[in-house]
This record gives sequence, structure tokens and C-alpha cells, in this order.
Amino acid sequence: MALIPVAVVALVAVPIGLVKGAPAVVLWFGFSMFSGAVLLFWETLRLVLDPTRSGDAAEGEDDGAALGALEERKRAAVQALRDLEFERSIGRLGEEDHRALEARYREEARAAMRAIDEGIGPWRSRAEAMLAEAEAAELAATTDAAKTEAAKAETAKTEAAKAPAAEAGCPKCQTLNDEDAVFCKRCGHRLKAEVADATT
Ligand SMILES: [Zn+2]
Repeated sequence: MALIPVAVVALVAVPIGLVKGAPAVVLWFGFSMFSGAVLLFWETLRLVLDPTRSGDAAEGEDDGAALGALEERKRAAVQALRDLEFERSIGRLGEEDHRALEARYREEARAAMRAIDEGIGPWRSRAEAMLAEAEAAELAATTDAAKTEAAKAETAKTEAAKAPAAEAGCPKCQTLNDEDAVFCKRCGHRLKAEVADATT
């Protein structure tokens, strides 16, 4: 009974995480766990207060063999409690015996429910793992975007650095000359002296 909601919670968390970000997922999980706790508490309370009514939770669940077996144990305990009521009502069971057996089966039902709750633990971990995965994916996407951005910035910087260098002023009069100018157009200073000398 509890696996389907947990799986749904986990599955819903992923798109929430991708669309609305990690804080929304944390809120979502908080809300879901709170709801789950309320439901579990309500179910336990109902069983303890009114063992003759098993409720929807005891019907038709077969999510996982272990959990199914636990559900079966719980159902059997609830059924035993019902039978006790019946046996007492027809006078086959004394008050004393009834009380002792009732306590035993209630404890059995509670133990089964505790075990079921613990059995959900791995699913909770899996949900958390999925959350972590979604966060990691989001982080990777953000990092990639940041990398692209940084690369762009780097290119722009290089370009910007290149540009002034290309039209660096004449070392003598600071006049800006064309990139391929050999002599300064203003003072006639040789701009490519070294290169020219090296090649000749
Ligand atoms: Zn010059």
C-alpha cells in the first residue's frame, strides 16, 4: 500500500527538481513525508482503536514479496482479533483469555506495521538517491552552462586583448597604425624593424 505513493512521490520530485529547482523538491518531500506520516499514524490509530475494521490498507496489496508477506501478517492478526471478538460474543472465550489474546494479536499487528514501515525505508533511500541524482544533473547542467559562459568570456577577453595589440600605437609617438604598417604613418618610425631584419 505504501510503495505506490512513495514511488509516485519520488517520480513527481524529479520533474519538480528539474523545473523548479532543489528547494522546491525539498519542500515537496517534506510535504509528502508529513502526509505519509499522518496517513500511517491514522492507520495505526484506527487499527489500535478499532481492530474489527481493517480498512482499505489491508486489502489487495502485493507490492513486493516481503512487504506482501508483512501485509499478510498484519491482515492475519487483524483477522485473529476479529475472531476473538466473535468467540467472546458467543461466550466461547472468557474475558480474561480474550484480553490476553487480544493484547497478543494487537502487538502482532503493530509489529507487522512497524516492519512494513521499515520496509519502506529502502524506497525512501531510493527516492533520496533519485533526488540527489536530479540535483547532480541540474548541477552538471549549470556547470556546463557556466563553462560555456566562461569559455565565451575567455574568447571575448582574448579577442579584446588581441585588438589593442593589433593596432598598438607607435612606440615613439603613440599614433595608431594599421596592423600591417611597416612604418608609422605620422613619425615614420619603423614599426616592424625586428621582424624585417630577422627575415632579411
Ligand atoms: Zn610614430
